[in-house]
Amino acid sequence: MATGHLTIDLSAVVQNWRALDAMTGCETAAVVKANGYGLGAGPVSVALAQAGARRFFVATAEEGATVRKALGAGPMIGVFSGHMEGDTDRIRTHDLIPMLNSVDQMLRHVESLPGHRFGFQLDTGMNRLGLEAEDWAALREIAEGLQPALIMSHLACADEPDHPMNLQQLQQFRDMTAGIDAPRSLSATGGILLGHAFHFDLTRPGVGLYGGLPFEDSLQTVRLDLPVIQTRTVAPGETVGYGNTWTAGAPSRIATVSAGYADGLLRAIGDRVALFADGVPCPIRGRISMDLITVDITGLAADPDYLTMLGDGNTVDMLADAAGTIGYEVLTSLGRRYSRNYIP
Ligand SMILES: *Cc1c(COP(=O)(O)O)cnc(C)c1O
Repeated sequence: MATGHLTIDLSAVVQNWRALDAMTGCETAAVVKANGYGLGAGPVSVALAQAGARRFFVATAEEGATVRKALGAGPMIGVFSGHMEGDTDRIRTHDLIPMLNSVDQMLRHVESLPGHRFGFQLDTGMNRLGLEAEDWAALREIAEGLQPALIMSHLACADEPDHPMNLQQLQQFRDMTAGIDAPRSLSATGGILLGHAFHFDLTRPGVGLYGGLPFEDSLQTVRLDLPVIQTRTVAPGETVGYGNTWTAGAPSRIATVSAGYADGLLRAIGDRVALFADGVPCPIRGRISMDLITVDITGLAADPDYLTMLGDGNTVDMLADAAGTIGYEVLTSLGRRYSRNYIP
């Protein structure tokens, strides 16, 4: 079989959730949007619910339906995009809680699903989603009467602890929600690390559950082993891969593994990472192709059957650094061609 093997450690996800929960005195939700950051929203949600998570968040109502099917009735599933046209049936059928972002969304919600629970997302300066301060001021009294399930906002710079934006948004959130009788939530992973003042009643970590920065102590949750399709020896002066970008300076053993940028191993990673064989680093040579990567295994005593791309020496953020991106993108790009094995 030429497919790569992705091993997803659900117990590591649960341990990360517990570690983030232990940093606060409040409730900890789980953000499982984008198919659980690529790991699988169903298995991740079920594992976290068993560990005690009671609130989950997704980006869209469609994702919410998937998570509801996995979880069954009970846990709250919040939808960051709110109540869009066409969402009504899904929100009702799957008991989703839209985080309303605008006056239009609020009207749509109370007209189409009167009495159905909802939350509000407020804009505290990021200017991405949420009600602006003026709209909120006009709406607030009516809104409060409707007993929202949650009032939330989102930090733009939480991964930079010293950024002045953090305190600015904290103050704005406090001002906009002062005296309100509803649970409040401001922080995702980065905000949890900013300390108690940012925690309010509920935190909403995503990336930290899955092994990504800015949660430095998070456990890695994915391992990716790629089968070796072919090996060969190249002589000094021979080149490897598209564009002849690597030339052997000495006799070298090259292994071709099955996975490439079509599997989310971003071409921009270039040759800046090594794969691993039982802990021995084997550098990438030449360009990453769509389905193939060529790797220098000269240092190994024998040709391996597999080389490890994630796990052993490599973290999600190491691949991200090499590609000039963030761990979030590496995780959410994890390929659909891999076989997936979940460790409970
Ligand atoms: C994605 C997202 C989160 C989770 O963020 P992480 O940085 O992955 O912890 C929380 N809240 C909102 C509104 C989001 O969009």
